[in-house]
Amino acid sequence: MTDDDRSLSNRARKRIVDGGVRRLLNTPGWNPFKAAVQPADASTKVADALHVQRLQNAGEAAAICAECAARRLASGDSTDLCPRHLAQAMGIG
Ligand SMILES: [Zn+2]
Repeated sequence: MTDDDRSLSNRARKRIVDGGVRRLLNTPGWNPFKAAVQPADASTKVADALHVQRLQNAGEAAAICAECAARRLASGDSTDLCPRHLAQAMGIG
């Protein structure tokens, strides 16, 4: 076996291992690191749903909020929110 052959087979083996690891990492809910760096598709959808829900909640609350109404009147922007409802819409309220 020459050095070239060995490095080639090492590379081939590494590729197989990498593929297996990648598959494992892509298994939903398996990789504890992935979520922190880049949310998996499933959790992204959940986050999106929660975000939409939050926006709807904030929107409904803002619809009856005098401060939001005053902000909209002042800015002319019909989507304007008071700081409290803006924070709620962003999920930090
Ligand atoms: Zn408001």
